[in-house]
Amino acid sequence: MPRPRTYKTEAIVLKAARLGEADRLLTMFTPSLGKVRAVARGALRPKSKLAGHLEPFTRASLMLAQGRTLDVVAGAQALEAFPTLRADLERTGLAFYLAELVDRFTAEGQESYPIYALLLEALGWLDKAQKVGLARPAFELQVLRLSGHGPQLSHCLKCRAEIKGAAAFSSASGGALCPICERDAPDARPLSIAARRAMVYLQGSAFSRGARVKVPTAVEREMEGLLQGYIAYVLEQSVKSAIFLERLRREDVSAAAAPNSRPYPEGPA
Ligand SMILES: [Zn+2]
Repeated sequence: MPRPRTYKTEAIVLKAARLGEADRLLTMFTPSLGKVRAVARGALRPKSKLAGHLEPFTRASLMLAQGRTLDVVAGAQALEAFPTLRADLERTGLAFYLAELVDRFTAEGQESYPIYALLLEALGWLDKAQKVGLARPAFELQVLRLSGHGPQLSHCLKCRAEIKGAAAFSSASGGALCPICERDAPDARPLSIAARRAMVYLQGSAFSRGARVKVPTAVEREMEGLLQGYIAYVLEQSVKSAIFLERLRREDVSAAAAPNSRPYPEGPA
C-alpha cells in the first residue's frame, strides 16, 4: 500500500546500525507495512529525543517522513522495552537471533501481521517466562511456516508414506523421508521419533504453547541441529546470530546440561 509523505506506525526494531557520526540506520518490522528501513538522524547524540526509544527489539510508536531513498524517523516513543530480557545475556542473544530471522525471512514492504504478532509474542515470552524453554525451535518452526517454508514432517516427501517410526530429515527435500527413500538423499540426517513428534507439535501450536513444552536435552539438541541446517539451506547461508548462540552455549556448559526431562503434552502428532 502506498505510504503518505508522513505516516505513523507501530514497529519493532530488528536492527540498529550506526550511520555516519550520530545517525542510526534502523530496520524495523511493522504490523501493516512489513519491514521498513529508516534513518534516525542524530539518534546517537546523548540529548537526542529519539535516544532510548529505538534500541533493538523495542516496540515503539513512530512518526516517519518519506525520504528520497530512505524514510526518516520524525518522532519515536517506546511502548515496550522488555527490560528483563535485556538484563540476561542468553535471552538477549536469542532475541537478536529471532529479530535476524524475521529480517532474513521477510522482504521490505511485504506485509505480514502474523509474523509481527509472532515476534511480539516471543519477545514478551523472553521477557516474562521463568525459563526460555523451547522458544528457539518454536519460533523457528513458526517463522518457517508463516513464510511458506514449513518442513513437511508427517509423510515421506518422496513416496508419501505416513511416517511412524524413526525417519530421516533432508533439508534439500524439505522435511522427512522414510528409511527407504532416504537412501537416495545424500543430505539426509537421522530424525528420531521424539524429535519429529516435538517438531510436529511446535509447528502446529501457538508459540507460547510450544515454548513451554519440555523435552529431554538430547531431543532439543537434535531439533536445533536439524533446524539450523534447514534454515541455512533455506536462506542459502547460515544465520550469523546462531553462531553467537553456539559460542555462548559452549561457555555455559552447566546450564546447557541441566536435567530437563518431563514429557511434553500430547500434541497432534
Ligand atoms: Zn519414502
